[in-house]
Amino acid sequence: MRHEERVKAAHAFTERFRRPPRVGARAPGRVNLIGEHTDYNEGLVLPCAIDRDTVVWAAPGEGRRVRIHSLTNGETAEFETGALARRGAWVDYVQGAVFALGPESVPGADLLVASDVPTGSGLSSSAALGVALVHALAALRGEPLEPRDAAVLAWRGESEFVGVPCGVMDPMASALGRAGCALRIDCRSLQVTRVPLAEGRAALLVADSGVRRELASGSYGNRRAECEAALAEARAAGIGAAEARSLRDFGLDDLPALERALAPVALRRARHVISENARVEAFCAALAQDDLAAAGARLREGHRSLRDDFEVSTPELDALCAIGDALPGVYGSRLTGAGFGGCSVHLADPERADAAAEALAAGFAERFGRRPPVLRAAPSEGASLLSAPA
Ligand code: ADP
Ligand code: MG
Repeated sequence: MRHEERVKAAHAFTERFRRPPRVGARAPGRVNLIGEHTDYNEGLVLPCAIDRDTVVWAAPGEGRRVRIHSLTNGETAEFETGALARRGAWVDYVQGAVFALGPESVPGADLLVASDVPTGSGLSSSAALGVALVHALAALRGEPLEPRDAAVLAWRGESEFVGVPCGVMDPMASALGRAGCALRIDCRSLQVTRVPLAEGRAALLVADSGVRRELASGSYGNRRAECEAALAEARAAGIGAAEARSLRDFGLDDLPALERALAPVALRRARHVISENARVEAFCAALAQDDLAAAGARLREGHRSLRDDFEVSTPELDALCAIGDALPGVYGSRLTGAGFGGCSVHLADPERADAAAEALAAGFAERFGRRPPVLRAAPSEGASLLSAPA
């Protein structure tokens, strides 16, 4: 959010809670460039934090009561830190943050949330909210968090308390992002490497297909189960190293054996994960050589693999990628996030990115009768604390 909007949110806090906030924290949304459905297979991902963020202002509250208001949805909620209970509503993210920090150690608090990350469209507003919340609550109790700890706590809040079967990638990207860089995250070791994104020569466009995916609903869990099953089949067939414990442990050279041994669905799921890990490496190598055409080609291959092997695309996402790939100035396109809806991401020439964004929206509208929001995202700094305005 722009500085003035953060200050406006701080004033809204003061008006609502009759005193100014004491601390604040901000955490950005993210877009994943490549490496999809690899996180829960202990593989590689390459997200970057974007220039849209969520701000949480906070002040000590009464007793052990937490009160929170969101300017995003206009709703207010409250709970006692000693009596957390899942409600199936957005306040669960707040309870989840308290849960992860340790309910007995979190003092009562008044909180106000504001954000310019679109919610529910795949840019990870949930991780932005979770990371901003744990930072703000920890700062309030006088124990600021390291970025990596904030990521893990936000992840535990969302996965263990809210009950969303999500990976650690989103909060890691939100907590550890760097301006101008993507983050190569090894989801097995949690090692993070910054990958400069051809600054000045590459722009990112994110188009929202408008189809809402529900992570908690079956499809995502199904894919996870299918990956487990593919691993079990591969092991039973004696393929790969004896100590293989996830699809991460297989490489492109295992594919011929897998093609002979696995049932069709298991093979397609495994082939996506194995080739996708290789594509993350190839994409990073292309960026290191400043070869944006090669990077774009990896994005297009990634989309085909998600569409045909992992089967998580939709006609809307396929159309956005096909329109993007046919435009001058677009190096490559793919769906981003879990799929089943959500957004597409396009690597573009900065000079032609605005025209490409317009052409994407117009081309999609021609086919589906509505213009999708297309935003230009800049790789941005991860979460940080904010001092309350005077
Ligand atoms: P995504 O993370 O892709 O935006 P999710 O479905 O994972 O989509 O998370 C969206 C949910 O997170 C919202 O429905 C809401 O419960 C919660 N949320 C995120 N940001 C906010 C916010 N600023 N205010 C209130 N709730 C929020
Ligand atoms: Mg989310």
